[in-house]
Amino acid sequence: MAEVIVVGGGVGGMVAALLLARGGHRVRLYEKLDRLGGKLAERERDGFAFSLGPSLLTLPEVFRELGVTRELVELDELCRYRFADGSELRAYRDPARMAAEVERLAPGEGASWRAFHQWAATCLDASRRTFFAGPLGRRPEQARLGDLRAVAPGRTLDGLARRFFRDPRLRQYVGRYATYAGSSPYRAPAALGCVPAIEHGDGGWYVRGGLPRLADDLACLLLGAGVDVRTGAEVAEVTAGPSAVSGVVLASGERVAADAVVVNADAAALYGRLLPDRRRLRRMARLGPSSSAFLLLAGVTGRTEGLPHHSVVFSADYRGEFADIFGRRVPPHDPTVYIGCSAVDDPSQAPAGAENWVMLVNVPAGDPGRWPMTPDAYGDRVLETLARRGHDLSGRLRFTETFTPADLSERYGAPGGAIYGTAYRGALAPFRRPGNRGPRRGLYLVGGSAHPGGGLPLVAMGGRIVASLVQQDMPARTGTEAR
Ligand SMILES: Cc1cc2nc3c(=O)[nH]c(=O)nc-3n(C[C@H](O)[C@H](O)[C@H](O)COP(=O)(O)OP(=O)(O)OC[C@H]3O[C@@H](n4cnc5c(N)ncnc54)[C@H](O)[C@@H]3O)c2cc1C
Repeated sequence: MAEVIVVGGGVGGMVAALLLARGGHRVRLYEKLDRLGGKLAERERDGFAFSLGPSLLTLPEVFRELGVTRELVELDELCRYRFADGSELRAYRDPARMAAEVERLAPGEGASWRAFHQWAATCLDASRRTFFAGPLGRRPEQARLGDLRAVAPGRTLDGLARRFFRDPRLRQYVGRYATYAGSSPYRAPAALGCVPAIEHGDGGWYVRGGLPRLADDLACLLLGAGVDVRTGAEVAEVTAGPSAVSGVVLASGERVAADAVVVNADAAALYGRLLPDRRRLRRMARLGPSSSAFLLLAGVTGRTEGLPHHSVVFSADYRGEFADIFGRRVPPHDPTVYIGCSAVDDPSQAPAGAENWVMLVNVPAGDPGRWPMTPDAYGDRVLETLARRGHDLSGRLRFTETFTPADLSERYGAPGGAIYGTAYRGALAPFRRPGNRGPRRGLYLVGGSAHPGGGLPLVAMGGRIVASLVQQDMPARTGTEAR
């Protein structure tokens, strides 16, 4: 049995801790906040509940397999896209229904969507056999000839969209999937185009009571598995000799020894502060940070006729928007706005007859001191933008609150508030992220900044990968396999 320390109780850290404890190891998890879940967080005010992180759950079986039994609600409409010309595209799980919607929006493009979906499904299958199957640097057992070409065809996501669609609105719809990884469609690899195959294959889901309930369920499973969970316990340093880790030092000064340390903090925090490694930091800097988010929460009176759970209201100039975020590194002048309203499917999320709006804009990670305006002024710009595009909330706002990259950074310890650590930049970006094995024996990385990347199902898959690596390196004497 190995003594394992997990640094951070985000979803990746919790999944790794759970599987290692079930595999027979002695696991301690240290979380600096007073609750588990990391970015799976919420804010409650005056009877309104707002998710500060994830709002859409995909691949729910990843959590079911871990023992999460909570009721999940499948969304009939995955997302509604509203374009700058006022037209709308409703996305449905069923590929035939989706293709018909695309055909209605842009006559002649329904068949193109089917071809795109076929490409995405092939790319997803190849990714499952390779990229998602294990750590980087090891030839996956199931890999087939041609998988690498399917995953990394040497195009950007925008290049992929251009290959399939003539209509600029459909290119914008495809490009949006880059933001699922905090990246720009003009730099991110085409591989991110496999995400729609996940949504149209397994659907989009909501967790009754809000997505943060998933963190509650994982916390219960940790208790059941005997993980020693310490909240309010920040790790200040990972200690190591020349070849192997030896434990951690807590911010309180307490030293704790371990055979293995699994770090769920951002890789930049690990290599910048916890166990400094300039070479690895430089390598991460070459990809650049992922985007961060500006969140505007609003308690809204009255119900909006026909409002779906998820909407995206697109900007008129997508290329200009990403040039602002990743080039000039300023919040976009004309932003695309995501709107999430869980009260549509769950009355517990807002008082009767009211709505809980979470509005999210992709913004650069980093110092908000560089912002040309205050958060409140930017919040007003978001509301004005929405009003111009058919969502006028004036006269209906009970209150608003903003969260900037600095707020996210402080909450989650993610440097600059970067949601996914590094961005996906260049054809081979998925293979250039920090790996799951650290530079010393017994050091492992899990979470959105490490392989295989961010998003709830992916960080859970990363937890599984790391648990199997530890199990392989330090088999537990009980003989039970980490499943
Ligand atoms: C606004 C927003 C919207 C999103 N939307 C979606 C979505 O709709 N669907 C989806 O699937 N994903 C979404 N995501 C992404 C998803 O939330 C993340 O990828 C995932 O939750 C990250 O999990 P993680 O394992 O990387 O850990 P994190 O959530 O990053 O947690 C890391 C934990 O480590 C702790 N920690 C850090 N340093 C230390 C230390 N030194 N000592 C002790 N503890 C430490 C932190 O406090 C934190 O709790 C969204 C994220 C954000 C921010």
